[in-house]
Amino acid sequence: MAQQIDNKALLESEIDQLLDQTPAEEAVQKLKSLLLETYDNSETRFKTIFEESTFGNKIIAADLRIIKVNHALIVLLGYSEEELLGSLITDIAHPDYVEDWKKLQNVLWADKKTSFSIDTCLLKQDGSEIWCHVTSIVFKDKSEDYGYTIIEDITVRKNYERIRTELDAKKDEFISIVSHELRTPLTTIKAINQLLEKAVSQDHTYYSFIRKSNHHIQRLERLITDLFDVTKIQAGSVQLDLSTFDLNNLLTECISGLQAIHPTHRIDYTPGAAAMVSADYFRIEQVVINLVSNAIKYSPLANSIQVSVSPGPDEVKVEVVDYGIGIDKKHIDKVFDRFYRIGEASHHFQGLGLGLYISSQIIARHNGKMGIQSEPGKGSTFWFTLPAAR
Ligand code: ADP
Repeated sequence: MAQQIDNKALLESEIDQLLDQTPAEEAVQKLKSLLLETYDNSETRFKTIFEESTFGNKIIAADLRIIKVNHALIVLLGYSEEELLGSLITDIAHPDYVEDWKKLQNVLWADKKTSFSIDTCLLKQDGSEIWCHVTSIVFKDKSEDYGYTIIEDITVRKNYERIRTELDAKKDEFISIVSHELRTPLTTIKAINQLLEKAVSQDHTYYSFIRKSNHHIQRLERLITDLFDVTKIQAGSVQLDLSTFDLNNLLTECISGLQAIHPTHRIDYTPGAAAMVSADYFRIEQVVINLVSNAIKYSPLANSIQVSVSPGPDEVKVEVVDYGIGIDKKHIDKVFDRFYRIGEASHHFQGLGLGLYISSQIIARHNGKMGIQSEPGKGSTFWFTLPAAR
């Protein structure tokens, strides 16, 4: 019976053959050696996996003391096998994370959960810390309970995440200071320019220059506001000033303003049945301005866009339809990420990749939803919903 018993089906057919073809006593003997061989094979297989794994592996007994470790764990931690055997994992846990290990042990041994995973920290023999993804299971062998733990070194990932969080915080702080500092002089420039626009007659040569600089001041103002908003969203400090209003009123007012500054496209919108919401008027206006401005910006070859609002019993839906460049499926979810701009489009259109991030965060804060249907080369529909006011 030298052949390898590889799986349950093979074993079953082997037993069937024995039972069919051999006298009972001989069959029982053969069955016994077949079972022992199968047991040996699976034990060999387990030993090979345990020893050869590139992850650190250990087995502990019911008193939580380590009774077996593999080579990878010895290399990972820098302790010798003798030092590890008989010790408790909490002996080498980072002092700040001993509780994690106790929690893991409680869940498995006291609460009798069969498996548990956690990211936590150990100390190597040289005193340096090592971050690990730990997965443990409890198993029975000859009616004794044992714990089997796989330890994966995730120190590089953890360090990367920590550095990234630190850099993000520094970046947010920088953006917050810069956008704040830029606002004050810009407000003064804007006021002076508005005075000039009133003072200079419309047929004066300089009038068109003043109008142009007004337009650019507005753009700059929007960019600075976006940057400022992002840091506020990141810090979770966006306050909503809620009031109950009809979205039709907001859209009518907002679209007439947008139409005046975007003569290239006809913005089709017809107010419909009352669509009452309890929302922050100026924040929702900001979302509409973002979506309509994008619809115009990303459809340079078209000359119209459509805006509509449909009130329902539970929610109100606003849609902005354009016939522009569209968005490939693979980018659809990502365009709501901070600073995300689609590679091909970003070369031809100006922007920071913040408008949709800010808009989606504003809508989420209102317990609404936001989404896109789009076909590259044909156009896009951006929509958002808000809970209907009771
Ligand atoms: P920005 O327009 O400043 O880049 P947004 O956050 O508003 O930033 O948009 C993110 C990206 O989504 C844009 O860079 C663009 O690639 C894509 N996008 C947004 N709106 C549209 C649209 N209506 N049609 C096609 N692509 C769009």
